[in-house]
Amino acid sequence: GFPAAAVSEDWDAQRSQWKLQNDPNVSTSTVVARSGLQLQPRMLLVTGSQPQHCENPVGDHYLLKSFKNKLDYCRLHSMEMFYNTADLDHLMTGFWTKLPLLRNLMLGHPEVEWLWWMDSDAMFTDMSFQVPLEKYESYNLVLHGFNDSVYKNKSWTGLNTGSFLIRNCQWSLDLLDAWSPMGPKGSIRDKAGELLSQSLVGRPSFEADDQSALVYLLITQTAKWANKVFLESTYFLHGYWVELVEKYEAMMEKYHPGLGDERWPLVTHFVGCKPCSQNSGDYPMEKCVKQMERAFNFGDNQILDIYGYQHKSLEQPDVKPILRSTDTSDSDPLKLS
Ligand code: UDP
Ligand code: MN
Repeated sequence: GFPAAAVSEDWDAQRSQWKLQNDPNVSTSTVVARSGLQLQPRMLLVTGSQPQHCENPVGDHYLLKSFKNKLDYCRLHSMEMFYNTADLDHLMTGFWTKLPLLRNLMLGHPEVEWLWWMDSDAMFTDMSFQVPLEKYESYNLVLHGFNDSVYKNKSWTGLNTGSFLIRNCQWSLDLLDAWSPMGPKGSIRDKAGELLSQSLVGRPSFEADDQSALVYLLITQTAKWANKVFLESTYFLHGYWVELVEKYEAMMEKYHPGLGDERWPLVTHFVGCKPCSQNSGDYPMEKCVKQMERAFNFGDNQILDIYGYQHKSLEQPDVKPILRSTDTSDSDPLKLS
C-alpha cells in the first residue's frame, strides 16, 4: 500500500520514486506491456453507483448490465476496473463522489498513469476502439467537448463529465481540489447551483453539479487550467444516447466496430435517464429502459461474436449462433437459429 494521507504537493516526485523502487517494468518510463505487442500507459477504469439498492428494481438490472459491459471492455483492453459503492465523503455525495474517489485512487495506485471515469449510465458501444493516448501526451484531462462551446459560448453542456480521462499527477490533484468546493451537499451546493445557472448558458436551475463546476472553472481560470485540458470531438468518449440509439441498425449495415465516432460510437451515455429512481428523469422511463437494452446488446454483440453468437435483435437479450461462411449447411441441424 501507499500512505495516501502523506501526500500533498510533491506527488510527481513521490510517484516517480515509488515507480523506481516498486515497479521494475516501468522504471523511468511510464509504459508497461499490456498486450504482448503493444506498449501502453497503465489505465484504470473507475466507476460506481449509489450505496443503496435502486428504488426501481429495473435500475439495478441495468447497473449489472452496464457493469458487465465495462468488465468486457476492460478484459479486451487489459485494463483493471474499480467499482465504488461507498460514500467516501458524507458531503461529496451523488455525482460529486467521483472527485474524492479519483483523488484517493490516484494516491493509492502510483502504478497507474491514467484513470478513466465512466458513469454507471454510460456503456461501451465500440468494444474494439482503443483510446489514442499518444495524442494526449502533453495533457492531463481529456473530455468529450468543444472549445468554442466551453470558452466562447459558456455552455454548460460544452463538455461532458460522464466519461473522461485524468492523468495521475500533481496537476490533477490540484485540479480536483479546485473543482470540489461547490460539491458539499446542502446550502453550499444549492447556492453554487444558483451561481452556475446565472453564469452558464442553457443551465436549468438545480444544485451545483460537477460538470457545470468544471466548465465554470475553465472559463473563470482559463490561463491556469486550459492548457492541460483536451476537449476531444473526433470520437465519442461520451456520446449522447438520444442522437445515437435509433441509428444502431444502420451502423451495423454500413460500418464496423473500431471507429469510435458517429459511425460506431465508443460510448453511449444515458444522460437524463434515471432508471434507478422512482420518478423518471428528463425522459420517459420506458424509452430509457428500451434504449439501454438496445445499447447493451449493440455492444454485447461484439463480445458474443468472439464465441459465435449474436443477439437475435437489439430489442431483447435472446441470442442465436452465427452461421459462418465456412459452416456447412447442416451445421445447425436443430434449427436453433
Ligand atoms: N454515482 C456514484 N454514487 C452515487 C451516485 C452516483 O458513484 O451515490 C456515480 C454514478 O456512476 C453515476 C454518476 O455518479 O452515473 C453520475 O451521477 P448522476 O446522479 O449524475 O447520475 P447520472 O446523471 O449519470 O444519471
Ligand atoms: Mn450519467
